[in-house]
Amino acid sequence: MSEIVCTSCGFTGESSAVTKGSIGTELVLWLFFLIPGLIYSIWRLSSKYEACPKCKQNTIIPIDSPMGKKFLKENLPDQYSATFEKKYEVNKNGLAWKLGKLVKKIVK
Ligand SMILES: [Zn+2]
Repeated sequence: MSEIVCTSCGFTGESSAVTKGSIGTELVLWLFFLIPGLIYSIWRLSSKYEACPKCKQNTIIPIDSPMGKKFLKENLPDQYSATFEKKYEVNKNGLAWKLGKLVKKIVK
């Protein structure tokens, strides 16, 4: 589970694990035919993938990757500032920022 951005629908947030097939089919196969049930279960487990919880597509990229940032900036500027500008403000009050100010004073 990690923060992602979906390039299909623009969802941002946690990805979710999606399993193909249905639990109903799996149960029926297990009840009536043991071997197909087993095969079906293995297939479902092996086809599990991380996807967008909104549109179920696997067109997701990590939000803090260069591509994720680029996508957000170009397509969802509001989401971009909400996600990344907070972090920037924290940096503003950080030690590096204060040191920078101090150095400027000394130089003047
Ligand atoms: Zn999506």
